[in-house]
Amino acid sequence: MHDHVIRATAAGGTIRAFAADTTHIVGQSRALHRLAPVASAALGRTLTAAVLMSQSLKGEKDTITIQIKGDGPLGGNIAVSDSHANVRGYVYNPDVDLPLNINGKFDVAGAVGREGYLNVIKDMGLKEPYIGYVRLVSGEIAEDIAYYYAFSEQVPSVVALGVLVDRDESILNSGGYVIQLMPGAEEEIIGQLEDKVNAVPAITTLMAEGKTPEDILQIILGDFGLNISGSAPCRLLCNCSRDRMERNLLSLGKSELLQIIEDQHGAETQCHFCNNKYQFSEEDLMKLVNE
Ligand SMILES: [Zn+2]
Repeated sequence: MHDHVIRATAAGGTIRAFAADTTHIVGQSRALHRLAPVASAALGRTLTAAVLMSQSLKGEKDTITIQIKGDGPLGGNIAVSDSHANVRGYVYNPDVDLPLNINGKFDVAGAVGREGYLNVIKDMGLKEPYIGYVRLVSGEIAEDIAYYYAFSEQVPSVVALGVLVDRDESILNSGGYVIQLMPGAEEEIIGQLEDKVNAVPAITTLMAEGKTPEDILQIILGDFGLNISGSAPCRLLCNCSRDRMERNLLSLGKSELLQIIEDQHGAETQCHFCNNKYQFSEEDLMKLVNE
C-alpha cells in the first residue's frame, strides 16, 4: 500500500476526519537522518501530523509547518507540508537513545520533553503567516496537536499518531488520524464518538493487522454515516534549491559574507531537511556580495 491521506465527513458534516498511512515517508526519513528508534517515533508522528493538517489548507501554494521544541534530549523537531502532502522534516538530535517507558513503548515524551512549546505556522501567501502557539501538554505529540486544535482553532479534536519500529529499527508502519467536531455536532454524537475512540486499538495495532486509513475511519465512524470525500498520495519531498541557499547566504549580510570569503574562500551549505549540500566558490560568493 502506498502512502496516502484521505479526507472524510460523517454525521451529516458535523464530523470531519483525516487519516493517513505514512509508512514509507517515515522509513525514508529514518534512513536519511539515521534516526534512532525514539527519534523515528517522534519525527514520524510530527510528519504524519503535518500530512493530516495539510488537508485543510485551502490555497494551492499554502504550507503548514509544525515546530516542536521541548526540554528533552531530542531538542526539537520540525515538519513542513505543502497542500499536496509533500512533506519534509528533521529532528535536532537524531541519535537520542532512551529506555522504553513504563508501558514498554518508545519514550517520545521523554525525548521531546514535557516542558516546551508547539508552533503551527500556516503560510497562506499573505503578508504575515498565521502562527498558533501552545505550550506542550504531554510531549507525546498527538495530545499536543489535539490541545493546539482546541486552544488555537477552537475545534474539539481527537488525534492519534503512531509509528511502529521493528527490532532492527526499521519502520513497520506509521500513520494517524484526526477526527474533528464541527459546529452543530450534537451532544449525543460527541458522547458516542468518545466511547468509540476509547474502544479502538492503537493505530499501529490496526495498521499491523493490515488496516488501511479507509478501514480505520470505517471502524470509528462507520456508524455515523462515514463519507470519504477524497484521497491523495503523500510523500517525502524537499523543495530546497541553490537559489534558496543563495538567499540564506545573502541574509547573513554582506560584511559576514566578506568575512567568510576571507576566512574560508568559499562556503558549503547543507539543507537540514534532505541533507543536500550546496557548494559556493569564492567567485560565487563575490557575485552575491556584488548583487
Ligand atoms: Zn532539501
